[in-house]
Amino acid sequence: MEYVFTPPSQVRLPISQHQAAFPVRRIYCVGQNYAEHAREMGGDPTRNPPFFFSKPPQAAYHGASFPYPPLSQDVHHEIELVVALDRGGLNLSAEEALTHIFGYAVGLDMTRRDLQAEAKKAGRPWDSAKGFDFSAPCSPIWSVQQVGHLHSGAIYLDINGRRIQSGDLEQMIWKVPEIIAHLSRLFTLEPGDLIFTGTPAGVGPVRPGDVLDGGIEGLDQLSLTVTGSL
Ligand code: MN
Repeated sequence: MEYVFTPPSQVRLPISQHQAAFPVRRIYCVGQNYAEHAREMGGDPTRNPPFFFSKPPQAAYHGASFPYPPLSQDVHHEIELVVALDRGGLNLSAEEALTHIFGYAVGLDMTRRDLQAEAKKAGRPWDSAKGFDFSAPCSPIWSVQQVGHLHSGAIYLDINGRRIQSGDLEQMIWKVPEIIAHLSRLFTLEPGDLIFTGTPAGVGPVRPGDVLDGGIEGLDQLSLTVTGSL
């Protein structure tokens, strides 16, 4: 079978201490999954069913820089635990969900907050705010074989050496198995899917020149310099 042009290359993420790469299929994200962050966004942190949005797979990358995107004056950092699936399915139970996880990474759900605020106000979709180029930087993935499952542990983001976001995975309103179970009722999950599981409190703007160091206890750090101009 020939194509009219060279098909796009497979998006991939490195796996820590592993030769093979992780092929990315889809990127799902959970909104407002830490109570303090829900409150800072004007939300209600009671245990309503989780809500989801997505980013295109091409937004995921592992690299040393984050190019400041166009058409925004207020790009925010959201440090998050990323779950990487190597098995899929529909209508998974929370009990079986953990067996579908290949591993975990540290990710940033970069957000054009100004465009998101406009979209929220107008009742419009969030794609321009959430799904832009380079909006999903990730650390290498650590396999479950290496690190086990992550139920608790510090999650943080430093900017220029100052701690800006800080929380613990155990503060998630919806836990990873429940997130997978919910998602699998909406979509057929497949190997290669990534799930961004929400950010703790302390989100705020980044500026060109900023050095971001994000981490989760037990995983690699994610270190990035913001490049370009505002
Ligand atoms: Mn987020």
